[in-house]
Amino acid sequence: MKEQILYSRKIDVRGHYDIIVAGAGPAGICAAVAAAREGAKVALVERYGIIGGNLTAGYVGPILGMTGRGTMRDELVRLLGVPDNDMIGRTGKAHDFENAKIVLEEFVAREKNIDVFLQCSVSDVIKDGPSVCGLIIASNESLFALTSAVTVDATGDAVVSALAGAEIAKGRDGDGLMQPVTLEFTIDGVDEDRGIICIGDVDDVKLGDERFLDYCKRLADEGALPEDLAAVRLHPTTVPGQRQVNTTQLCGVDITDAGGIFKADLELRRQIRLLVDFLRKYVPGYENCRCVASGATTGVRESRRVMGDYVLTGEDVQSGARFEDAVVHDAEFIVDIHNPSGAGQAEAKIGWCKPYDIPYRCFLPRGIENLYVAGRCISGTHRAHASYRVMSVCMAMGEAVGIAASMCADTGCSPRKLDVAALQDRMEKKGVELK
Ligand SMILES: Cc1cc2nc3c(=O)[nH]c(=O)nc-3n(C[C@H](O)[C@H](O)[C@H](O)COP(=O)(O)OP(=O)(O)OC[C@H]3O[C@@H](n4cnc5c(N)ncnc54)[C@H](O)[C@@H]3O)c2cc1C
Repeated sequence: MKEQILYSRKIDVRGHYDIIVAGAGPAGICAAVAAAREGAKVALVERYGIIGGNLTAGYVGPILGMTGRGTMRDELVRLLGVPDNDMIGRTGKAHDFENAKIVLEEFVAREKNIDVFLQCSVSDVIKDGPSVCGLIIASNESLFALTSAVTVDATGDAVVSALAGAEIAKGRDGDGLMQPVTLEFTIDGVDEDRGIICIGDVDDVKLGDERFLDYCKRLADEGALPEDLAAVRLHPTTVPGQRQVNTTQLCGVDITDAGGIFKADLELRRQIRLLVDFLRKYVPGYENCRCVASGATTGVRESRRVMGDYVLTGEDVQSGARFEDAVVHDAEFIVDIHNPSGAGQAEAKIGWCKPYDIPYRCFLPRGIENLYVAGRCISGTHRAHASYRVMSVCMAMGEAVGIAASMCADTGCSPRKLDVAALQDRMEKKGVELK
């Protein structure tokens, strides 16, 4: 039995909102803006001093995946200057991260009825029976409460849902291991005439006669690189001579275990040094490269998954499942499982997907009322998550949930009782393709 103390104190209620969105990553930003555009009064609560989640603080790019036309994803890739990004990054480029910070803040600030609370962490939920009716926020000013008709958990790590007592799953079947954590970084000084691009494990790009990734693997076998780092992914960015490197990795980290985060971050930053040395020594065109920026925080591919009224499966995403209550249409990405227990991919064959739908029920945590989830922590299996976790799809999820939440707040209806046909109609009228 762990040692425990009873802790209680009175705190101020800082405001009442139609909707609180917890977490301002790709999903949360879209949820907040979509709800505000419907006229809802919204609080957007973010623990970092910057919005964007992995898209800014995590230094994650390019924006991958695809959805049906007309979602906020299309608007955002245009604003971020990467409208040509395709499903897996063959034509796409990583966005300019510095520019993204201001682009996203302006995107949110244009909506007059969003209050943004930066450097504010969700630390508890206020519940009335099974209903979430507010959040306790920890800021350097004080603890305070915000109350709401509807709450959206877009924290990536399902912080609100876990605090509310939702059913949570983690990792793959069997051993529960999750995808490795990674710190992405940017290098410059690459000679564009000679320096290859490698978008990942689907890429057959060659160095001479040898597949680049086989070359890296061979050098890793010879001791030039730790074996787990042999999948050297080098994405182009919008700036010539730069590459976005998605290669550091550490397995066995559960980011919801606060005690392990520093060690993981330190290890990943040491790997950045190793990788830059490797690129300079062994990869033509990279002789003068140097790391110019990296994520402000360790990048988390996978943590808690909230079990909802429907659990999207690997079979659903690979067979192109359709649902009557679809609110994200034609989501598309591979089943991209970075090996939870070693180098490269977890599955020998790339798991290609057919464009699939995500049903409304995936956003409703079982047994909890007035709470939506959006983004990578929605209800799905480990394999399905490996596809829908990409940013384009998370943006579309956030938008759908934001519109739904505003309809609930407007009518006093609970999310579970919302007329999904009316939601779909509302989304289609806004130009979101759902069939
Ligand atoms: C290394 C790595 C590489 C990836 N590569 C790609 C790629 O190339 N392309 C792609 O499209 N996707 C990629 N992904 C996946 C993608 O970045 C994420 O799945 C996506 O960002 C999820 O969006 P989200 O909004 O659900 O969560 P996040 O982007 O994680 O945002 C969640 C937000 O919630 C905030 N938050 C968390 N807890 C709290 C709290 N208690 N209180 C307040 N705020 C809180 C966080 O600070 C964060 O801002 C990658 C992920 C990683 C880690």
